Amino acid sequence: MDNLVALAKRRGFVFPSSEIYGGFNGFFDYGPLGAELKKNIRDCWWNDMVRRREDVVGIETSIIMHPKVWEASGHVAGFSDPLVDCKVSKQRYRADQLFWAEVYVQKNPTDERRLIGYVSALESERTEEELVEAADTLKRKLREQGALTMGLIKDFTAAGSLFEKIPSPATGEPTLTPPRSFNMMFQTNVGAMTDASSVAYLRPETAQGMFVDFKNVVDTGRVKLPFGIAQIGKSFRNEITPRNFIFRSREFEMMEVEFFCHPSEANDWYQFWRKTRYEWWQKLGLAGQNLRLRDHEHDELAHYAKDSGGCADVEYAFPFSGEKGFSELEGIAYRSNFDLTQHQKTSGVGLEYFDQERNEKYLPHVIEPAAGLTRGLLAVICEAYTPDESRPSKVFMKFHPSLAPVKAGIFPLVNKDGMPEIAEKLYAELRGRYVLEFDAKQSIGKRYARMDEAGTPFCFTIDGDTTKDQTVTVRHRDTAQQERIALDKVAAFLADKIR
Ligand code: ATP
Repeated sequence: MDNLVALAKRRGFVFPSSEIYGGFNGFFDYGPLGAELKKNIRDCWWNDMVRRREDVVGIETSIIMHPKVWEASGHVAGFSDPLVDCKVSKQRYRADQLFWAEVYVQKNPTDERRLIGYVSALESERTEEELVEAADTLKRKLREQGALTMGLIKDFTAAGSLFEKIPSPATGEPTLTPPRSFNMMFQTNVGAMTDASSVAYLRPETAQGMFVDFKNVVDTGRVKLPFGIAQIGKSFRNEITPRNFIFRSREFEMMEVEFFCHPSEANDWYQFWRKTRYEWWQKLGLAGQNLRLRDHEHDELAHYAKDSGGCADVEYAFPFSGEKGFSELEGIAYRSNFDLTQHQKTSGVGLEYFDQERNEKYLPHVIEPAAGLTRGLLAVICEAYTPDESRPSKVFMKFHPSLAPVKAGIFPLVNKDGMPEIAEKLYAELRGRYVLEFDAKQSIGKRYARMDEAGTPFCFTIDGDTTKDQTVTVRHRDTAQQERIALDKVAAFLADKIR
């Protein structure tokens, strides 16, 4: 992971935010390559989920919404993480992570380096997979006390006494406070006053924008059930322990669809979206063993999904997920009519839909595929990272050509004999259609190495033969093989490879 983070910084994929001031924990900037890569993933999602579908429309809603939205959605009361403080070191931890850390220690009782055990468990994202066996005993104990519902460890506040026995990772002694709730929404004040009446929140998810605009879309959009409303945008969560590079950050981007349908069709639509979303990530190149679709266990389900179709996560085996471990990329949830009911109740505005074909008025049920764009970008970078000792760069980024931030390098072999002119002409011809890099400096080997690190799938080199027979060398990133093609076939070659 360290090598990957170093490459991301060195090549301008991702920088720490405000780095000249020492960075700002949980915030990141996307450099020239990262911004292109993010845009390509975003466009791919928008094209596949919105433009190519007749039953989904896209919207963009404001980041700061009426504070009542977050009361209705349950975020003001319930969007919190359980938190414990170490009374001695003043360090703060998420209670659920400490719980898993304790499980780790129980599973490895001979691990003399108890604190190291804690730290490694704290650093791994989703430790359930590998710890599940040892977790059973502890879970049972807590369940017997009525203290724990798996997955919703928000109930941790009720398991307070447990934490009197768990040693603090900082001191090794039981110096932790009982857990308390910490609301993760960022607060701000709107207008000149800074009192309770002006409090508003930066949205922690984009979904509520779709629910709140449901009526507007129905009234103006010529849409008919079943249909979806989609949005891509920034979300903000004051995560207690942002970590694992951009995986868990405080400002991130989400790509969400709220798909509305008749209650009798909801289970079928849930199955449809569950499959469609899994296949979409496969299409981006996250195929094979590193990707999986995991259905939630019944006691892991959110309350609104308990009696309905359920909830599934698309998960990826990030390098920090531990051996055999996976972490969430996207959640697909059957939310019943929970959100529309809440907004109808809180706003007093009727949100029922009149179904002409059925001659029936009802609150639609909702399937929600909620994906992380920035987390997706991290998965794409992890998947692409391919060490190769035989290359000067020692590593190349094997992006799917349609996601690669730079599609092609265009190089005159040397800066004379008419080569730069031909290369510049080719560059000018293709520049409007593709992101390209024109590079006339350094040896050709060094230029290929730079492109390998950027994940550029093709490089076209104009050399002495080009002036004679109007052909160029194409170098393929994945095989490092070279072939010659006609200069006037370069555009068609790229169009064929990059769709
Ligand atoms: P987690 O369990 O990882 O906190 P979550 O279940 O709270 O995630 P959702 O609220 O379902 O996540 O959000 C949907 C998606 O948004 C997640 O699958 C993830 O890709 C992304 N996401 C959520 N929180 C963050 C974050 N702090 N940083 C980056 N991406 C995030």
